[in-house]
Amino acid sequence: MKAPQTTQTERLRIALRGAVQGVGFRPAVYRLAVELRLSGWVRNTRGGLEIEVEGQSDQLLQFQNRLRTSRPPAAVIAAEETFRVAPRDSLGFEILLSQAGTSAEKLTLPAIVPDIATCADCQAEVLDPQNRRFGYSFTNCTQCGPRYTIVLDIPYDRPNTTMREFPLCPLCRREYESFEDRRFHAQPNTCAGCGPNLWLSPVEPGSADLFLQVAAALKNGKIVALKGIGGFQLLVDARDSIAVDRLRVRKQRDHKPLAVLMPSLSCIHEYCEVSAEEEDLLTSAAAPIVLLTPKASSDIAPEVAQQSSCLGVMLPYSPVHHLLMAHYPYPVVATSGNLAGEPIATDNDEASVRLEQVADLFVLHNRPIARACDDSVVRWMDGAQILRRARGYAPLPVKVPYRLRPVLAVGGHLKNTIAIGFGQQVWLSQHIGDLDSPEAREQFERTIEDLCKLYRFQPEVIVSDLHPDYAPTAWAQRYAKAFGLPCEQVQHHQAHVASCAADNGITGSYLGVAWDGAGFGTDGTIWGSEFFACTEGRYERIASLRPFALPGGQTAMRDCSRPAAGLLWKVLGSVAARRSIQPQIAAMLKYGINSPESSSMGRLFDAVAYLCGASEHNLYEGQSAMLLEKAIGPLQTEQAYEIEHAQGRGNWCSLVEAMLADRSTGVDLAMISARFHNALVDWMLEVARRSKLKKVVLSGGVFQNAYLVRRSRRLLEAAGFEVFSHRQVPANDGGLALGQAVLAGMIH
Ligand SMILES: [Zn+2]
Ligand SMILES: [Zn+2]
Ligand SMILES: [Zn+2]
Repeated sequence: MKAPQTTQTERLRIALRGAVQGVGFRPAVYRLAVELRLSGWVRNTRGGLEIEVEGQSDQLLQFQNRLRTSRPPAAVIAAEETFRVAPRDSLGFEILLSQAGTSAEKLTLPAIVPDIATCADCQAEVLDPQNRRFGYSFTNCTQCGPRYTIVLDIPYDRPNTTMREFPLCPLCRREYESFEDRRFHAQPNTCAGCGPNLWLSPVEPGSADLFLQVAAALKNGKIVALKGIGGFQLLVDARDSIAVDRLRVRKQRDHKPLAVLMPSLSCIHEYCEVSAEEEDLLTSAAAPIVLLTPKASSDIAPEVAQQSSCLGVMLPYSPVHHLLMAHYPYPVVATSGNLAGEPIATDNDEASVRLEQVADLFVLHNRPIARACDDSVVRWMDGAQILRRARGYAPLPVKVPYRLRPVLAVGGHLKNTIAIGFGQQVWLSQHIGDLDSPEAREQFERTIEDLCKLYRFQPEVIVSDLHPDYAPTAWAQRYAKAFGLPCEQVQHHQAHVASCAADNGITGSYLGVAWDGAGFGTDGTIWGSEFFACTEGRYERIASLRPFALPGGQTAMRDCSRPAAGLLWKVLGSVAARRSIQPQIAAMLKYGINSPESSSMGRLFDAVAYLCGASEHNLYEGQSAMLLEKAIGPLQTEQAYEIEHAQGRGNWCSLVEAMLADRSTGVDLAMISARFHNALVDWMLEVARRSKLKKVVLSGGVFQNAYLVRRSRRLLEAAGFEVFSHRQVPANDGGLALGQAVLAGMIH
């Protein structure tokens, strides 16, 4: 007779793919199986995680349900498969040693988890004098600690991390092996008895506690180089103008805003306006730098972020930060440990040389950093938008709505990231940065090599930008030639739009809006205000700004009077324009010397910022646009200038005339800036209506502007459009590689 279903013994094999290693998944599975008295095993594989469980069918059902509802918070499941296999009468449940990949597992690449900010339990331990980890800077558990920055190979097990140099002491081993412990199978588990240690250089003779010395140095205006999770940070008291200024001079970073580490949320509230959403971002596992609106009265030195509307703030995310802030509970500038244009330093010896002229004191440790990872930057706009994607987010894959052949995308020249894509996923590297210096280009090559090695990835196609002068374009061509691979090129703004569409999982037809600084167009001119009617990888350019001249080419990116001259030349005519343009620039315009025409929205912002008196220069990329946005302040108005739309061109002539009239009659800057921003959104709405498309996708560096993003969303949605902005990757060139990978990798 057949036994009733409920009492039948069954065995299941469950395969999970995604970010499942290094988040405490195996211990969680173990605990659940033991609790439900199931036998079997769990192990990491190259593809993810594999489980076999055996027991009564109703218990197995419970196991599956609870596995779905109570998985570790940092885990991301990309795919799940369950098979029934023959029962084996197994006894007990165990965590097996990881298995090397089988060919079937190569169908999906495994995901490595990003670094996770110190959890509340570990934070409490390092600050508790009664705890054995009191004051220990490398404390972590299955819920927190370094991951991506210590992984040397997969599967994610201690011998495959930079912790392999530190054998577990008996106490740590006991924690690691006992399933009721928070550190059960925590791969980087460690303590002062067996793990890495921290020291100062130069050593002060007869000195006190290390953190007391660091606190004293900061108090005395010294610059401290701290070896952190993903590289060195430079610290200085954020309230000390002279010290901040010295840091700027030594780092050769003239005006770019600096990020500030603050001891607690309550301290952040003292200095900045913080919404509930921004609080969530600050306290999230990624613990990024969040761009906040600073309060008017503040003792933060103006030198920290003088030319910016925002202050970048973060909370302590490592035990070292918590211990430092416990000894020095004040705002401290924490910026990447590098010189301008160079990548962040990660190695003790390298940092001692490169930062020798910058830092007065070094806080060093002996846990190697497997790969450089800057702090990420996020801004809350119409949702959280990542502006720099690195520590805490990289290398989580983006699930895309297409099947891709193995594709390597090399990104753009500025804010570079690279990406590898395969199946329905794209892994975007951490932020590498601008590729002007040889050090940065070396880092670019190292990152490609690293990602390919880590994921055992071999591209079948390489894709770059169309721009012949971008360093990655030349690299891609050399590499493709050397390995006999096809090399494709994707137009800059098409890649932007494809990136945002993939970011939001969109297929079908949509209107792609790419408003940007500059990108090489298919007609050889510089584009930057593109509207595309997009259908499954086909792009029809249906509108853009009327082009204007940029006298001096590259120089016009820094000197805002040049794009302004380009506008005036056409609006006022050459005779009238000469009165407000420098003679040599007028000559360039007259004879067309080094004055390329461009439809760049970024340069239109620069020109307008100049003409209304908001800014004269871009001392860093996007500075003038940021000041123009800042100028609006709390003003709310529906008033707008007009961009006339005809034959696919947005004409800014009447906009510039109206603005000059406003300026001459003393209309204030806030109103001028709001009318300009509103005109752009009205134009977007006009093009969207004419396009007859229902979905609107916003990408490109100009959409780092919160006023523009919020207003675009509000007006477009009110008119019945569905609006998509970036979520997982940046709207700026840091997200370009995702779009390139999708367009070149897509299997039709
Ligand atoms: Zn922890
Ligand atoms: Zn130990
Ligand atoms: Zn761009």
